[in-house]
This record gives sequence, C-alpha cells and structure tokens, in this order.
Amino acid sequence: MESVPLTHIWHYTEVDRAFWAEHLEGWLPQRLIDAHVHIADPSLRLEPMTDEKRRQHWAAEVSDPMTAQTLEHCDRATFPGRAVEHLAFGLPDLDFDIEASNDYARGQCVEHSWHSLSLLLPQWSGERVAEELDKPGVIGVKPYYSLIGRDPATRDRYIEASIFEFLPHCALEVLNERRAWVTLHVPKADRLGHPDNIREVKEIRRRYPGVTLVIAHFGRCYTEPHAREAFPALADDTELYFDNSAVLNPVVHRLALKTFGPERIVYGTDNPIFYMRGRRRWTGRRYINQTNANLHFNKDREPPEVEARYTLYMYEALRAIGSTCEDLGIGPDKVEAIFCGNAERLIRRVSARDE
Ligand SMILES: [Zn+2]
Repeated sequence: MESVPLTHIWHYTEVDRAFWAEHLEGWLPQRLIDAHVHIADPSLRLEPMTDEKRRQHWAAEVSDPMTAQTLEHCDRATFPGRAVEHLAFGLPDLDFDIEASNDYARGQCVEHSWHSLSLLLPQWSGERVAEELDKPGVIGVKPYYSLIGRDPATRDRYIEASIFEFLPHCALEVLNERRAWVTLHVPKADRLGHPDNIREVKEIRRRYPGVTLVIAHFGRCYTEPHAREAFPALADDTELYFDNSAVLNPVVHRLALKTFGPERIVYGTDNPIFYMRGRRRWTGRRYINQTNANLHFNKDREPPEVEARYTLYMYEALRAIGSTCEDLGIGPDKVEAIFCGNAERLIRRVSARDE
C-alpha cells in the first residue's frame, strides 16, 4: 500500500501500519476523545511565517496550521476503524487573528459534533468571557502565556508570567460561575513543579472549584525529574485533571498513573505537531527530538536505516501509555476511561451547566 499524506511534510506509511497492528490495535478502545488538538484556518494568519521564527523553537517548525477537514482525514488514517471525537481549539499564537480563529474552531466543531475551547485573550472582560461561553459548542477556554503580548523574537517572552496574567481572576470568576472547562498550559522554565505554579493551581482549585481544570501535557513534565518534582504536590486533589498530550516518556506516564490514577487523566494528541516522525530522548531535565526530516532543530541525526523505522510521535506516545497501563495492571475499563470515558463525563458535566 502507498503512503498517505497527513499534514505538513508528514505521511502515513507501511511502517506506521505495521506499528499500529503490532503495538496499538489490540488494546486501543473503539471510541476515542482527543481532548487536546489544534485546528486552524491558514488564511487567518496575520503575520507571515519566517525562517527566523521557525528556528526559534522546534514546535514552530512543525505546527503548520491544520484544518478540521485535514484532521478528519488524519483520524481515518491514524486510527483505522476507531470513532474519534475532539475537544479542539485554535493555535495560541498572536500571529493569527485570534477572534476569527475561535470562530473557525467553534464552527468546525459544531459541524463535526465535536466540542471547542476558545483561546482566551487576557484583556477580555468578564462579560466578554461570558459571551464566548454562550456560543454553541464552546465548553471553556484555552489560556496561554504567549497570548499576553506579541514578540516576534521569541514565543517565550512571557514564560515566567504568573498564571493569573494570562488567566485573570475576572475570567476565572465567570468560568467558575458557568462551570466551564479550562485546559491550562502552565508557564515557567521549571514547569509545573515551580512553587508559583503549584501555589497558583491550588489557589484556582480553592477559589474557583466550579472550573473543570485540566493541566495540559502533565504540566509540561516531559522528563522524569520534572514529573518527580511536581506530581506529589498535586496528588491529593481528586478533582484536578491532566491531559497526557505531547508526553512520549513512559516513565512520566507511569508516575502520573501511579500518582493521580487513570480517573484523572484524559487523552490528547497535541496534533498537528505529533504527526512528526521520529524518537524523543531524555537526559536529566532535557529532551531531544529526532526526526527524519531536514529541520533546524534536527541536529542529532541517526543512521538512515534507523530513521527508516521511525513512526509517528503520536504512535510513540500511544505505545508508552499502552505499555505503562499493561505494566501497572490497569485494565480495559480504566484504559477506556483515559481515552474516552473521563473526557466524556467532564464534557457532559460542563455542557449540562445551562440545562
Ligand atoms: Zn497544544
């Protein structure tokens, strides 16, 4: 069989088909909810992508906007025979028209019977947040520190911000009242374990208990030391949730499953980025991405015969989740909860707020 183009420069190949059959098909539930995916209309870009921007961060090089139609096509290729739904949102990047990006994501999600989060502009008043939550299909918001202000030189100008600088209290009050969903990408170079993050996450939970708070990417804890520093501090709050998107590291999945339990974890891909092929390596508190394409970040190439066996990052992430669940004796019911049941329950709880 021929390879199928996915999005950007990535294809679905024989290697992926074999990987799916060997490592994933046997245990992955029939229904899946991917609760962390970015869809975007490329025509909503306000500032052109430049080579300089591509060089700033590996993710910038591989996050070309993906339409909902392309996502649907990729679902069919990467999850053969599975029913896939999404909780989707735009790209949190001020190089795009954010208001129009929210309209696009919302419209597409309604059309596909998915749900959407609106990118939260930190300048919005409480009334503006309420207006956004009134729109069909919108169950909450996706705040992000890069939405504080545009800096063409770096996406991390505001990485050391307080969470409340990009998820302000006036927004949280409305989100709490409306029992909305918040997928929170935490700031700080030190990631979730930074004492400010731990303190602020606890403050949100204490002051705004009506919010369904989902910490994205396990709090950006992609390495074992980061996970060990952060997870124990948030172990006891049974109503605090995490998405496991963008995490390929089996050790991190293991720590998360042992610390939080499968009931507090929802599946996410963080696509389109994770259609990338290759492997991730971890040394201490750093990770290195390797792929088979000629990209700026891809400095540590492996021999061609090794690169030829690369599969999609999203498949590597799935294998890590699957093998960790197996090791820990997490049965099919709990696996189903991670991939579908938990998100479904939370979406239902959030959507029921108006009834
Ligand atoms: Zn994301």
